[in-house]
Amino acid sequence: MSSTMRALVLADGRLAYHSDHPQPEPGPGEALVRVTRAGICATDLEMQRGYHPFTGVLGHEFTGVVARAPEPGWEGRRVAGEINIGCGECDECRAHGPAHCARRSALGIRGRDGVFAEYVALPLANLHAVPDNVSDDAAVFVEPLAAACSLLERAQIRPSIRVALLGAGRLGLLCAQVLALTGCDLTVVGRHTPGLELLRGWGIAGRDARREPLDDLARACDVVVDCTGSPDGFAQALDWLRPRGTLLLKSTYHGLPQADLSRVVVDELTIAGSRCGPFEPALRLLASGQVRVEEMIAARYPLEEGVAALERAGESGVLKVVLDI
Ligand SMILES: [Zn+2]
Ligand SMILES: [Zn+2]
Repeated sequence: MSSTMRALVLADGRLAYHSDHPQPEPGPGEALVRVTRAGICATDLEMQRGYHPFTGVLGHEFTGVVARAPEPGWEGRRVAGEINIGCGECDECRAHGPAHCARRSALGIRGRDGVFAEYVALPLANLHAVPDNVSDDAAVFVEPLAAACSLLERAQIRPSIRVALLGAGRLGLLCAQVLALTGCDLTVVGRHTPGLELLRGWGIAGRDARREPLDDLARACDVVVDCTGSPDGFAQALDWLRPRGTLLLKSTYHGLPQADLSRVVVDELTIAGSRCGPFEPALRLLASGQVRVEEMIAARYPLEEGVAALERAGESGVLKVVLDI
């Protein structure tokens, strides 16, 4: 007998609310988690626009409570979950984990139903207990905050260097806070008032690209991080690097960025990408209050109004939209 649940399902590029979607059946080693809250990010919007082919329950940022687990001690625990599930057997899985396994699935992104639903199945190995002092709202940010933390794994950000971050949206604001923790000389350049206002409140230097001159950044930065999601961000970021500087890309682009790649050769620049990151440091940063996230929530919707919630999240300048499941 299979039970049903409420879920937001993407099929043929169309997102729809279903009241009777089949509940997931956990595989060996997997837990069934009752999702309590979920976050909408750019990836979800891109998938809805058809940039990645996917059919199933959308969503990968969440917190929930373990309903059923193959090991004792998990049931009833509040958890967040890593999104990549590898084969566990290939060289890549064994050496570095599932993030780059060729046979991986990814929650609500690739080959596996996601979290915009009452229940989700995930391997126990993907679950992390959420500390008591981290609220459900804050725990929804663990996954993107982990992705922001991965910046520090990809380049040396020292207190003595100058860093520019392009983009003060959902991901940019998390990256900004993580970068600021290093004590580096950080400038964040954004285009939307809500993000710039939050930065001000956090004591992080933010500049409004619409009305402030940015000439002093040209060829002046040791590291530039692009969180714009726009191909123009790439060229802009390249312009700001000084010789031997490093460009860290958090954006995936639709279309190919136009940029003078000879500069990469002549100035010996490094370009590095960064995707998913470590959950434990992200949970520590939330538990200690070193990174602030709840004020990034712009709107909340019940799961039933999920289609409207994604529309809202896609409006320009709107920060985090959360779903109450
Ligand atoms: Zn995401
Ligand atoms: Zn593998």
